Amino acid sequence: TRPTLWVSACLLGKPVRYDGGHKHQAGLENWLNSWAHIVPLCPEVFAGLGTPRPPIQRQQTAQGDRLVLAETGEPTAAALPDACQTLVRQQPVPAGAILKARSPSCGAGNSPLFDPHNRLIGHGDGVFVQALKARFEGLAIVDEEQLHTQAQRQAFYRSVMRGIGEAD
Ligand code: SF4
Repeated sequence: TRPTLWVSACLLGKPVRYDGGHKHQAGLENWLNSWAHIVPLCPEVFAGLGTPRPPIQRQQTAQGDRLVLAETGEPTAAALPDACQTLVRQQPVPAGAILKARSPSCGAGNSPLFDPHNRLIGHGDGVFVQALKARFEGLAIVDEEQLHTQAQRQAFYRSVMRGIGEAD
């Protein structure tokens, strides 16, 4: 059976980005289609934020992290964390995930975090990735920039196959 991969919809050419565009990775999509079952998802559209929409960013405050409009710093996207919790409970469950680098939702380890003065203070997991990791411990998660080379793709393939109990 083919492993199920959850993939950021913008990487599959769906026009779901905040600016109405996409980040289609045609070669990557072709490769994934050769061995996996792809489930496209966009947490921000699923949360009802609409397309196009004003860009959001993660902000750290004394009261905890929140989502704000990148332009004004106003709180926004209150529906996104709950939507992510719903999304990670969808079927079929993933054997791996390929998510858009640096997104406030989909970024894995490289999602920018700002302070209330709009200064970049670090990087971490986007809102969707936080929910995904909490739900599926040890899930193979990469972004499109980590699947450029043949060696990177083979390593990801092996970790997904190991995860579903298929020998190399
Ligand atoms: Fe949607 Fe994630 Fe792509 Fe942003 S990075 S457009 S939230 S799929």
